[in-house]
Amino acid sequence: MPHERTILLVDGQSFYASIEKAARPDLKDKPVAVGDPARKNGIILAACPIAKSRGVTTAERVAEAMAKCRDLVVIRPRMQTYISVSLLITEIFESITDLVEPYSIDEQFLDVTGSISLLGSAEEIARLIQTRVKLSTGVWSRVGIGPNKILAKMATDNFSKKNPAGIFELTHNNIETELWPLPVHKMFMVARRMSAHFARMGLHTIGDIARLDLNEFKRQMRLRMGRQSDIQAEYYWQTANGIDPSPVVPGMRSQIKVINNGRALKWSMYRTMEDIEPLMVELVIEVCRRARRYGYMGRVVAVGAAETDGYQSSSFGRQMTLQRPSYLEHEVGAAVHELFLKHWKGMPLTQLHITLTDLSDDRVYQLDLFEDRERLIRREKAVDTLKDKFGPTAIVRASSLLKTGQAFERAAQIGGHWA
Ligand SMILES: [Mg+2]
Repeated sequence: MPHERTILLVDGQSFYASIEKAARPDLKDKPVAVGDPARKNGIILAACPIAKSRGVTTAERVAEAMAKCRDLVVIRPRMQTYISVSLLITEIFESITDLVEPYSIDEQFLDVTGSISLLGSAEEIARLIQTRVKLSTGVWSRVGIGPNKILAKMATDNFSKKNPAGIFELTHNNIETELWPLPVHKMFMVARRMSAHFARMGLHTIGDIARLDLNEFKRQMRLRMGRQSDIQAEYYWQTANGIDPSPVVPGMRSQIKVINNGRALKWSMYRTMEDIEPLMVELVIEVCRRARRYGYMGRVVAVGAAETDGYQSSSFGRQMTLQRPSYLEHEVGAAVHELFLKHWKGMPLTQLHITLTDLSDDRVYQLDLFEDRERLIRREKAVDTLKDKFGPTAIVRASSLLKTGQAFERAAQIGGHWA
């Protein structure tokens, strides 16, 4: 085969529930599910293995789950935390290869072809991943290995999730004995409707499709599903045969152009610098934190604001270039402060936005011999880690405790937007 690659698909087991259990050691041996306990009609988004062994399934109603499992602990989802953990896992993977493609919040593809000579076999890399992810997030990883994405994905879904080691490799040598005997609905992207079509065509296992001549399969599909079905036929036939040339495409990290944050404000509350300052600090902290997470420093800081006194309104958008790229809160904050004081007309605020642009990879700038910048970066990243683990309200500046601080309110809003 030309261009043989080694691809991993890493799946976090009971992702949301595992994160909640890691945050609450007292629940270690209890059945835990994530869903809204206040809404009995709401659904279970995730259940831990103990809850699953007691019959709880994802997507069933909270009330049904609680009837089955009386001592089920139902925890309200904290989506922002799950996203942070997902990003943290991406960072762990990026220490193994720069080809990491997030596929969903709890699944990511890694192309480790270039890492094998450094880090060992694919299986050794899989075990390394399991250990590192477990230690830093509490989530157990199941890893599928394959020569391409489709086989890695089917290895995870059909095998790694079912064996205790949580690792399985599908290759062109073993698909015939391992994958082909499985019923056709075990194939990626085959749902109930499609497997009913296949059943009526006499195709019951993945191998039944794989072994057909492609043109014969296309002909049969056209008879059932019309002329438009050629592309579908080709797709399913390739999947069954483990053919997938698509590359692992790194996610947003390489596509981000700006990092910004802003707020529409109740102007009666933001009249003086004393009112505005705490909010400004929060926006700076959030922008810098996101920049650190994505691994970007910004050279240009921009501030946009709108103000009104009820009779007249005014707005401005101004930017300035820093001496060097940064994501340090005091450096970005000083620029924001200066820009704001220079252009604010002194009327109550209705909007405040800050933006970091002209981004560059932070690895280039971390070391600075003239001042102990690395220590500052480490300190701010340590705070990020705590926030990732315990939520954005774990550490808020004292200023947020003032009446205009919105960090707590916002954290609650994010939590409330999940449904
Ligand atoms: Mg999962």
